[in-house]
Amino acid sequence: MGYTGSIPDTAARRHDWMARMACRDMDPDLFIDRATEHEARLICAVRCPVRAECLANVKRLEAGVARDRRDGVVAGLTGPERWRLDADAPGHSDKPALVFTGEAPNCGTYTALLRHLWLGERVDPGCWSNEVRRDRLNRAHLATKRQEDVAAINAEAS
Ligand code: SF4
Ligand SMILES: [Zn+2]
Repeated sequence: MGYTGSIPDTAARRHDWMARMACRDMDPDLFIDRATEHEARLICAVRCPVRAECLANVKRLEAGVARDRRDGVVAGLTGPERWRLDADAPGHSDKPALVFTGEAPNCGTYTALLRHLWLGERVDPGCWSNEVRRDRLNRAHLATKRQEDVAAINAEAS
């Protein structure tokens, strides 16, 4: 039998889901900047119709990759979080990997949020409200640090 004209399963076809990414036409800085980490996480977890595909893709692409080579929020998880959740990644001698075996952590904790995101689960309101609190503390911490940096630069300049 000759060539039937059927289309092989090319990389382009496998990545059809990319046309539906919620972040597709967004400013990439939103997913890179630490100040907008929480906003990016929400877009991934609540507004993106292809988070499952994105999560599988990033797990595959970053398997065993070092912490400093993982950038931005992807599938709702920051680079350091994805590193922490990948037991095969190097560098866990200082900070142990987070591996979810046995009983699930209590909802309303940061660990529970990471578990939901890493396993592709829906994030419940309790875990979100804890994350909103955590984000508020992070922002306050970043703002203080920025003020300190500005003060140090001003002191050097005077
Ligand atoms: S889950 Fe987030 S990073 Fe992945 S495609 Fe959707 S919006 Fe983009
Ligand atoms: Zn939860």
